[in-house]
Formats: sequence, C-alpha cells, structure tokens
Amino acid sequence: MAGFSRLEVSEFTDLNSVARWYITLRWVAVCGVIGALTLSSLSWQRILPYGVLLYITLALAIYNGAFHWFFFGARGSKLSHSEHGAFFEIQILCDYLFLYLLVYFSGFFENPFLYFFVFHILLAAYLFSPQVVLRYVIILVALAGLGALLEYRSLLPHFQLFERAEETYRAELLPRLLGFCSTVSIAGYLGASINRRLRDTTQSVEIELNRYRSLDKIKSNFILQVTHELRGPLAAVKGFHEMITRGITGPIPAATAEVLDKATRRTDGLLQMIDEMLDYAYMESDDKVRFAPVLLRLKDLIDANIEALASEAEGRGIRIEGHCPAGLTVEASRDLVNIILNNLISNALRYSPKDSVVNVSAFKEGGEVKLEVRDQGIGMSAEELEHIFEEFYRTRKAREMERNGTGLGLSIIKKAVETMGGRIMVASEPGKGSTFHIYLPKEG
Ligand code: ADP
Repeated sequence: MAGFSRLEVSEFTDLNSVARWYITLRWVAVCGVIGALTLSSLSWQRILPYGVLLYITLALAIYNGAFHWFFFGARGSKLSHSEHGAFFEIQILCDYLFLYLLVYFSGFFENPFLYFFVFHILLAAYLFSPQVVLRYVIILVALAGLGALLEYRSLLPHFQLFERAEETYRAELLPRLLGFCSTVSIAGYLGASINRRLRDTTQSVEIELNRYRSLDKIKSNFILQVTHELRGPLAAVKGFHEMITRGITGPIPAATAEVLDKATRRTDGLLQMIDEMLDYAYMESDDKVRFAPVLLRLKDLIDANIEALASEAEGRGIRIEGHCPAGLTVEASRDLVNIILNNLISNALRYSPKDSVVNVSAFKEGGEVKLEVRDQGIGMSAEELEHIFEEFYRTRKAREMERNGTGLGLSIIKKAVETMGGRIMVASEPGKGSTFHIYLPKEG
C-alpha cells in the first residue's frame, strides 16, 4: 500500500488477532470515556465542556464502528500483510487525533490520561520499524509543544480539569511538557529496541524453521524414492509367486504350494505397508496438482475400491456391500478419495472376523457429502479412539490380530480429509464394530 509504512512484524504474527484486539480495546475505551465523563459530571465541579467531549467520544465510536464493519464484515479479516500495515497506521493516526482532542478539552497537561499516548507509541513500536516510531514520537512532541505554547500565550483557551488559578497551570506547563515529551521519547526508544531484539530472535527462529522444513521435505522425498524403488522388485516377486502358484512354470508339490502361499501373503502385507508409506510421503509432499479437485462420481470410486479389495475380502470370508446413489458427485481430489476409501475398507477387513459384513456408503447430508465405512469388527475403546489418528499408533488388539501394519493409515486419511476441507469422525465399541464418517464439503 503506497504511502503507508511497511509492517515489520514477522509473517507468522497473527495480525488478525492484533487487529481484533485493537478494535475491541477501542470499544472498551468508548465505554471507559463515557463512564469517566458521567462520573466526573456527577461528582466534579462540572467545569469540563461535556458537550464537546461527548461529540469527540461519539466520533471515536463512529470511526471504530467503521473499522469494525470494515474488518469484521466487509473484508472478513482477509487483509494482506501490506493492507494490514495501512489499516493499523490509519487506526493509530485516528487515535492520535481522538486522544489529543479528548485531553485538550479536559485539562490538557493537567490530565493524566495524556500519558495514554505511550500505548500508541508501544503499539507502533511493535508493528513498525524504529524510523516510523521516531516519526510518531516527533509528531507527538511537536503537537504537545505547539499546544503548550498556544495555551501559554493564551492563543488557545485552557479547559481546566481542576479549579485553580490559571497562573499555577501556566507555571507548571514547561515541566509537565518536558515530563511528557521525555516519557514518550523513552517509551519510543525502549519499545523500538526491545522489538528490534524480538524481531531479530524471531527472524533467526524463522530461518531455522525454514531449514527444518526443507530438511523435512528432503526426508519425505527420500522416503518417496526409496519406497518407490522397493515397490518395483517386490511387485515382481509377487508376480513370480503367482506364476509358480498357477503352475505356469510346471506342476508344484502341495508342500511347496503351501509355503508359496505363505510367502505370497507376507509379500502382500509388505506391499500394503509400502503403499501406505508411499501415500504418507505423497501427503507430506503437498502435491498441488495431484490434490486438485475434480468432479467425481462417487459410485464409480466406491465400486472400484470394493473391486480392488474383493479377493482380500474373499480370502478373509468377509462380505463388502456398497451403497451409493448413481448420480452422487463430489468435487474433490480423485487420489485423496481413493486413498481414504482404500485405507478405510482395508482396515475394516483386517480388523473384522470371518463371516462379518463391511458396509461402504455415500450420501448427501445437508450441503455436504458423507462417506461411511462400517464394520462388525474388534472395535476400539474410548481411550484408544483418542490416539488412532496419531502416526504409528496401533491398538494392542490390532497388533495381535494383524502383524502387518504401519499405524500410518488413519493419519494419512485425516490429512487427506483435511486437505479437502472435510472432517472425519469415528464411532466404535469394543467387540461390536466401528463406523468411520467422512464429511466432504463441496457437492458437485
Ligand atoms: P494400521 O491399520 O496399519 O495399524 P491405521 O493408522 O490404519 O494403521 O490404524 C491405526 C489403528 O487404529 C490400527 O492399528 C487399529 O488399532 C485401529 N483401527 C483402525 N481401523 C480400525 C477398525 N476398522 N476397527 C478397529 N480398529 C481399527
């Protein structure tokens, strides 16, 4: 924003909460001033110009109302960093004018609230560079000096706060002016140097944080590459096992077939773990293209995922049922919805007994699309439910039932759901089963 000072606060500072706090504080000030004026009009000598002071307070309420409307309503707290800078500067300048007029009409240098300017200086020091703070201090000192001079020369009337001889006020003007100017100058200097140090520290923390972020990215890419490399040969091993099992390489004795079957199941488990790690690494990579939303027909995705896990379900003696209206669509990432469905259905299969049923359904609920995966499996206790979205967490029962498992599936699902702006909920009872509810926001 041209013409306004640049904000010096860190990118990580929540400027919205500072602005919210500043506007709210001004409403407190409106009430405080009205309260103080009411009290003084009741108990004082009634020498203040209450009419003018009320108009000034009304002006404060009006401009704060405008800021409130602009910030909470019109712009919905969506200001950019530079717009925030301009917004804060306009607010500080308006407050300068308001406070100056308020104290001028209520005793000026007699009024202890004159020192409230220190708060504005400190806020400016928090938000802006030392040069901007110096500018504010100079403006304030110049305004105070000018006001004092004009009152001293009787070019401006003095509005008394306490009834006493004008001479006494005039005699005290210079020391009061000096006291005020030195206070705001020291406040400006201290505020600016403390904030400079804070900013330097924040900057080095941010540099470290960025370094860790890039290291984390390198780690994720490394996992991605290694798991990718592992997956190829393992899939080939699985293929060779299948060729031998099907007798393509010639007949095999029953004992060999049995060992081969065990080897195939272990390879499947390993492949599933590698796939989970790949999904995890993809989720960490924040791939914007891969996660871009498209219009999806949910029935197709549900059917495809059920189909992909049909042989596993058959092997475990579990029936999967899918229910989804043919025309139900959702605007979401195909990869993410597939990751969610595949992980939820395979969990339901792995943690359910033989002859049970797994239900996969999707339907509209309000403005959202709801996906539901229900099983009649081992279920989870309330205490276990608190941890299931943590990385690498597995319940004792799950570990006993299934040796293969990374404990990453649900944390991947949660991240996938949140990436699409949705939410996930679980209802479960030990020994009875679990239901995972996924709400996706955009209906196609
Ligand atoms: P994994 O299945 O590889 O262990 P997940 O992150 O998918 O990892 O799941 C974490 C844990 O949550 C599982 O180990 C299991 O204890 C529990 N869990 C997940 N889904 C179910 C389910 N459908 N029924 C019972 N427990 C489940």
